[in-house]
Amino acid sequence: MTTRLYYADSYLTEFDARVVERAEDGRRVYLERTAFYPTSGGQPHDTGVLGDASVRDVIDEGERIAHVLDTPVNESTLTGRIDWPRRFDHMQQHTGQHVLSAVLEDLFGWATVSVHFGVDVSTLDVDVPTVTPDQVARAERRANEIVFENRPVTVSYEDAAEASGLRKASAREGTLRIVSIADLDRSACGGTHVRATGEIGAILIGKIDKVRQSARLEFVCGLRSVGRARADHDALARLAQSLSAAPNEVADLVARQSTRLKDAESRLRALETDLAARIARERYDGVQADDSGIRRVMERRASGSLDELRPLALATASLPRAVFVGAVESPAALLVAASDDSGFDAGRAIKAALVDAGGRGGGSARLAQGTLPSREALDRAIASIGGVR
Ligand SMILES: [Zn+2]
Repeated sequence: MTTRLYYADSYLTEFDARVVERAEDGRRVYLERTAFYPTSGGQPHDTGVLGDASVRDVIDEGERIAHVLDTPVNESTLTGRIDWPRRFDHMQQHTGQHVLSAVLEDLFGWATVSVHFGVDVSTLDVDVPTVTPDQVARAERRANEIVFENRPVTVSYEDAAEASGLRKASAREGTLRIVSIADLDRSACGGTHVRATGEIGAILIGKIDKVRQSARLEFVCGLRSVGRARADHDALARLAQSLSAAPNEVADLVARQSTRLKDAESRLRALETDLAARIARERYDGVQADDSGIRRVMERRASGSLDELRPLALATASLPRAVFVGAVESPAALLVAASDDSGFDAGRAIKAALVDAGGRGGGSARLAQGTLPSREALDRAIASIGGVR
C-alpha cells in the first residue's frame, strides 16, 4: 500500500521514500510513499524526477502507485521531485472546475455529469442540451467573483454514512476525502487542489458543444486563461489590421463584406448566364443544321474545368434542336448537352463514346459529362459523338 503524500499536502514537491519493489528491470518502481499524483478522476499524472530518472507516467493500481521511469534505478531510497508548474496548473484547473460546477448548479440547477482535464483545455459536461451565451457570461462572472473572494479550500475525512451536504452523493463506502470550498461546495474528491480560490486565477469559459443530451463547456484557469486571452487578442488584432478596422468593428465589417460577396457572386452568375446565352445564340446562328435538322455547337479549350463550360452548354441546350459538345484537353474531359426537341440523348451518346475511348462518366439525356485518360482518347470520343444521330 503506497502512502499518498499529496492527499495531506498538495504543495509538497520534494520527498524521500524507500523503494519497496522494482519491476521491468528497474523502470517501474513502487515506493512506500509518494507525492506523485497518478492519472485519476480526470486529472493527468505528475511528471518530475525520481533519483536520476525522469518520471514518464504515474499509474494508480488501486492499493499501490507505479512510477514508470525513462531509465532504471537501483537505489533502495530515492528522492522524488515533482514538476511543480505542471502540477500547480492541474491544481488550478481542478479547483476551478469545482467552483464552476458549483456555480452552474447554484445558478441554473445543472448537475455536472463528467469532467476532463486536457493538455490545452479542460471540459465539463452538464445535464442540459443547450447553454446560452448569457448563461455562460453569468456563470463565468460568478465563478470569478468567488475566485476574488479568495475562499479557503480545505480537505477533511468523514465517514461516508455520515457525510452530509455533498454536491454529488458518493458511491464509496468507509472514509471519504471531502474537498470543501467555504460557503460554496463540498465534494468527495481524491485530486489535488489549491488552498484558496484566489490561487485558481481567472476562469475563462470557451466554446460550448452539444454532446448527446449534454452540453460540453470548455474552460481554462490561471495562466492558461492569460495565454488564451493573449492568443485571442493577437488573432483579433491581426484580423483588424488586415481589414484596416478597429478590433470592435471587425464582426460587423466581416458580416457586411460577407453580404456584399454573396450579392456580387449572384450578380456574377446572372451575368455569366446572360453572356452564355448571347454566345450560344451567336454560335448557334453561325452553324448549319445537319441532315436531321440538328445544329451542333462545339467548344474546345486547352485547359480548365467542365464547370466553366456548363453555362454555355445549358444555354445552347435551351435553343431549338441543338447539341452542345464541350471539350477540355488537359485534364481531358467532355461535356455534352442536348435540347429536349433534338431527339439526341446526351447520356447515351457520352456513355457509348467513353466506352470506346476508355473514359468514365455519364448523365441525363439533356446533360452528361465524362473524363478521359488522354487527349488522343478525347479526340476519339469527340469523333464518336459526332457520329451519333
Ligand atoms: Zn477535485
